[in-house]
Amino acid sequence: MAGNPGLEQLIPIVNKLQDAFTQLGVHMTLDLPQIAVVGGQSAGKSSVLENFVGRDFLPRGSGIVTRRPLILQLVNSNIEYAEFLHCKGKKFIDFDEVRREIETETDRVTGSNKGISSVPINLRVYSPNVLNLTLIDLPGLTKVPIGDQPVDIENQIRAMLLQFIKRESCLILAVTPANTDLANSDALKLSKEVDPQGIRTIGVITKLDLMDEGTDARDILENKLLPLRRGYVGVVNRSQKDIDGRKDIKMALAAERKFFFSHPSYRHLADRLGTPYLQRVLNQQLTNHIRDTLPGLRDKLQKQLLALEKDVDQFKHFRPDDPAVKTKAMLQLVQQLTTDFDRTIEGSGSAQINTNELSGGARINRLFHERFPFEIVKMEFDEKELRREIAFAIRNIHGIRVGLFTPDMAFEAIVKKQICRLKEPSLKCVDLVVNELSNVIRNCALKMSAYPRLKEEVERIVATQIRQREQKCKEQICLLVDCELAYMNTNHEDFIGFANAQSQSETSVKSGTHGALGNQVIRKGYMCIHNLGIMKGGSRDYWFVLTAESISWFKDEDEREKKYMLPLDGLKLRDVEQGMYFLF
Ligand code: GDP
Ligand code: MG
Repeated sequence: MAGNPGLEQLIPIVNKLQDAFTQLGVHMTLDLPQIAVVGGQSAGKSSVLENFVGRDFLPRGSGIVTRRPLILQLVNSNIEYAEFLHCKGKKFIDFDEVRREIETETDRVTGSNKGISSVPINLRVYSPNVLNLTLIDLPGLTKVPIGDQPVDIENQIRAMLLQFIKRESCLILAVTPANTDLANSDALKLSKEVDPQGIRTIGVITKLDLMDEGTDARDILENKLLPLRRGYVGVVNRSQKDIDGRKDIKMALAAERKFFFSHPSYRHLADRLGTPYLQRVLNQQLTNHIRDTLPGLRDKLQKQLLALEKDVDQFKHFRPDDPAVKTKAMLQLVQQLTTDFDRTIEGSGSAQINTNELSGGARINRLFHERFPFEIVKMEFDEKELRREIAFAIRNIHGIRVGLFTPDMAFEAIVKKQICRLKEPSLKCVDLVVNELSNVIRNCALKMSAYPRLKEEVERIVATQIRQREQKCKEQICLLVDCELAYMNTNHEDFIGFANAQSQSETSVKSGTHGALGNQVIRKGYMCIHNLGIMKGGSRDYWFVLTAESISWFKDEDEREKKYMLPLDGLKLRDVEQGMYFLF
């Protein structure tokens, strides 16, 4: 037997995985190393597979006979029988019965209108004649739909073939008949699409016996014409006449051998041609291929296992069939969701704190304090343009009249325009926060995966709630901006306008300092001061002026003489606040 004996076990292990995944219905989620057989219709795909087994067991006929992928697992064994995964335990000794079972099982899924389906049939053949090998027989590439086959059958088949062979883990057995032009080979064209370098494609040339007299496929078989990394193997299968005449496969293999050894163009290559050689090559290549892909496969399996164990863990805590326990578990999940949500938004100092990424709350914090101010600053205005607008506004306000003063209305009109522009970044900020909240909920609800309907309902309710709040919040923001637009309080302390400029010059006269622009009057009035350490002799009313830099006391409003002046940076804010508290 060929192949590395230590590695012989690899193929059976992957076979087990293949069965497991087919039964779970998730066979596509793990890329098992495998060999897929592709080729045009009547290229000889089925014949090659049958020769491996040494039995006639595949459906034959005109049109698309193979309409579902057949995962054919060949297992070397002393006794010969076949077994299907869909009726496990039933041993098929008669291979005619195997063929009928494939036909029935194909029709069961595809219906009888000769449509196709990518749900595989798993067949395992135990035999002393086979080497451990797993192949997938796929529908042949076809051009013309027959009967009531769907009109796009060609595309359907192509799509199905691609679905298998596009995976890096799949070796492609590209079957091409020798009596057609290699450059036009359906199989090679398709494999080139997914394996342009020809790294994982193995070429098989059939029907070498049918070539025109005087021509041969030597160039191809010597890998000179369209080179593939893994080369080509030529075979001679039974002709239709042989099959009709019930020529058995043992005889066919002998005839094949004789053909190669007696053919002048192939004699020198004869020990690298023929079905037994192909079988050995495939066994070896698949084994090596599995060995190469094993580490990646292990990693993937390990990950899936961990994920599954996590799910199982959640089921372990209760018996899911007991309704009382179930209700309790669901309630717990809802409570869990609230705490999780709170923790992500409000933050926490617990040990479970995530050290890998920002929580929802921290993200929202960033939106408020980095993103939003940034958006505001980014809101550029062109000073030149602004001045031009002001000039227009002033002239339009004056109309035909000649103005004496700069009208307030011009200022208001321009400022209103600027205030209006705050709406957009503010509303955008709401959108971003809403988005973040939705993410948080989605993440928190993941723990409910064991109860998909509960999860769905919870997500729906929360989403509705968020949407309603979002609406309210946006209305509030618009209202706020509208308020600012409705009345412009130029008397506000933040406003460096006429009134403040005036009082500023007043204070600078009184305090003897030259009022810097920042030294604005924040408040003035009578204040009953009785708790400040400096005011010895009990409490009494003073007139005070609080500016951005200092606070001064006077006997009364009209008294020009300053009694006390304290710089603000020496005072604690609390003192000032207390003073104010007593005053008003
Ligand atoms: P598939 O559609 O690719 O599965 O092709 P089949 O294996 O069913 O073969 C189609 C036809 O070609 C059958 O009649 C086979 O007998 C015939 N055939 C396949 N390979 C060879 C070959 O190497 N030599 C000859 N003479 N006929 C072949
Ligand atoms: Mg076939």
